[in-house]
Amino acid sequence: MATFLVTGGAGFIGSHLVEAALAEGHRVLVLDDLSSGSIENLSAVRTHPALEFLPESVTSKSILAEFVDRADVVFHLAATVGVFNIIESPVATIENNIGGTEAVLRMAAKKKKKVILTSTSEVYGKSHRIPFREDGDLVFGATSKSRWSYACSKVIDEFLALAYWREFGVPTVIVRLFNTIGPRQIGRYGMVVPRFLNQALAGQDLTVYGSGQQSRCFTYVSDVVRWLLLLSANDRAVGEILNLGNPEEITITGLARKIIEITGSSAGIEFIPYERAYELGFEDMERRVPDIEKIVACTSYSPQVTLDAALRHTRDWCLERQKQYAIA
Ligand code: UDP
Repeated sequence: MATFLVTGGAGFIGSHLVEAALAEGHRVLVLDDLSSGSIENLSAVRTHPALEFLPESVTSKSILAEFVDRADVVFHLAATVGVFNIIESPVATIENNIGGTEAVLRMAAKKKKKVILTSTSEVYGKSHRIPFREDGDLVFGATSKSRWSYACSKVIDEFLALAYWREFGVPTVIVRLFNTIGPRQIGRYGMVVPRFLNQALAGQDLTVYGSGQQSRCFTYVSDVVRWLLLLSANDRAVGEILNLGNPEEITITGLARKIIEITGSSAGIEFIPYERAYELGFEDMERRVPDIEKIVACTSYSPQVTLDAALRHTRDWCLERQKQYAIA
């Protein structure tokens, strides 16, 4: 059994990874400054004897040094994410994402520890080469549009991880996550699925930005976690970039309709122009579809959870949460 360090382990994806790793019998160290994560996300495992949690940033040098030292593999998930966050706090986005990854890689290099770095499908930007392959060109808009700062910060992280592998032999693996969804994801920072679910369950119209014809591929969190754990024990992926996603594509209006249907909501759909939702001149991606040949070949695992099932599980979690809050 291994010891894992999960940065951002109290976040949405991180907490699911922590739970799954503990269930497999691994020891798990978690660093999370709770800026967007929450201790509540770890409530099911908080007293687990193989879990150690410190509410600290990855930039706390001595703590990071100790945890990296004890870990066999580092999952670096800590980051500033969410389109609202990126537009409202561009400095924090850029500094946290680049500074955090730099700190983790530098420490991992001292001990030659394996690092699995979570990047994002956002790095494909406005590329039209669907489906997106890992070796495809990345196409960004002007630097005056703050949205692109997130993609660029993650691209720098990717370059840095690859550079540490090539120059210093630090075993790094880069994964690009395509719109992961599931329980514990919150809508505060912009993510569309929890926003639509909460709106539908409250009987409020669903806020579709732009024409609603833009599409995404949503991946259930348990599939992402399975891939991450398989990669931790797989040396074929070292020095590689891999898309992690479910290629099932849906338009945002299609998503809104589906969510209204599965919640039995009487809500309608309100179309809101991008500049009102985000900022003037906001640019969105029309389509975002992963080519997952590489990760499937590498891990012999393909996504198991359909979009319908993923939305139903997430809806059930939202309902359960509403009940808990009502009782509290
Ligand atoms: N979106 C929307 N209504 C919302 C939140 C998001 O229509 O309340 C749209 C958003 O403009 C984008 C898509 O849903 O086209 C996915 O947005 P999200 O922020 O979840 O992820 P990303 O843009 O990073 O794919």
